[in-house]
Amino acid sequence: MQVKHKSIYFTLLFYLLLNNCSKDIYIDECSTYDHLTTIDTLKLNNKILILGIDGFRSDAFQPNITPFIHSLSNKNTFLNLMHKTEEDTYSGPNWSSILTGVNFQKHGVDDNTFNGNFFKTYPSFFYYLERNFQNINTASIVNWDPINENLLSSDVDFFSENMSTDSLVFQFANDMLLNENPFNADVIFVHFDELDAAGHAYGFSKEIFEYRETLSTLDYYVNNLYNIIQNKRAAGENWLFILVSDHGGDGFGHGDYNNPHIRNTVLLLEHPNMSFKQDKKTNQTDIAPTILEFMGLSSSEFDCKKDGSSILK
Ligand SMILES: [Zn+2]
Repeated sequence: MQVKHKSIYFTLLFYLLLNNCSKDIYIDECSTYDHLTTIDTLKLNNKILILGIDGFRSDAFQPNITPFIHSLSNKNTFLNLMHKTEEDTYSGPNWSSILTGVNFQKHGVDDNTFNGNFFKTYPSFFYYLERNFQNINTASIVNWDPINENLLSSDVDFFSENMSTDSLVFQFANDMLLNENPFNADVIFVHFDELDAAGHAYGFSKEIFEYRETLSTLDYYVNNLYNIIQNKRAAGENWLFILVSDHGGDGFGHGDYNNPHIRNTVLLLEHPNMSFKQDKKTNQTDIAPTILEFMGLSSSEFDCKKDGSSILK
C-alpha cells in the first residue's frame, strides 16, 4: 500500500512538473526559433524623449491647467485622451506594459511589488536597442525607483537612484539634454510621480487645487524639456517626443478599471513631420513598438512577443 501510494504521488508530481514545463515553453515560444533583426541605417541618428507623468487624468488636460502641453495639440501630433490602461490599473503593470510592449498577463506584473515578473522573457524596448545598436546612449531618470530597480537598470546605460522629487528628476533630465551630463543621450525615459501623490493625498480631479497645481508645475517642466528638443531639432537632430501616463484616477485612488476617469489616460506624440495613425485606439503596449519602429529596429523576436503595434503611419 505504502509503495503504491508513493507511485501515485510521484506520477502526480511528474504530471504537475510536465504541466509547468509546457507552460514555460508556451510563455517563451517566441525565443525557440532563430530570430531576424534588421536595422534601417537611414534612422541611425533618430532620438526619442519619453516623458511619463504618473496619474494624469484625461479631463485635466486643459489650457488653463496644462497650457504648454495643451498647446502642443496644435502641432503635428497624435493625441489620445482615451488612451487605455491595462485592466490592472496599478502603476507597476502599466509602466511595465509601456516599457515592454506586452500586456500584464505576459510580463507578469500585477501590482507595485513587481514580484513574479517575466522581464527576462519580455524585456524593455531599451534591451532591444542596446543589444542591436553598439553606440546608442540610453537613460532612465525616474522619481519612482521600482521602475529602474526591477526593469530598466539592467537595460540602460544610465539609471537614476533615489531621485525623490520631480524637481530633481527635471533638473537631471534638463542637465543631461543640455550639457550631455553624464553623456549625450539618444533615448531617454523620464518619470514624474508627484501628480499621482497629489491625487492620493488630495484627490484626482481638476477641481482639486493641489492636483491642478502639481500638473501645472509638470507642464512647466515639460515645456522646458521640449524647448531643448526643439533646439536640437534646429541643429539637425531627428527627435520624436512622447508624453504618456500610466493611469488616471478618481477620488483618492485608481483601482477600478470600469471607471472611465481611471482607465482613460493621456498619450501624446509629437514630431515635426511624421504621420501618425490618427484613428488608432491606443493602449500601453503600443508605445514600445512605436519606439522601435522610429529607431529603425525590426526584431522578429520582439514582433513575436509584442501585444501592441506602432502608431507611426
Ligand atoms: Zn498611484
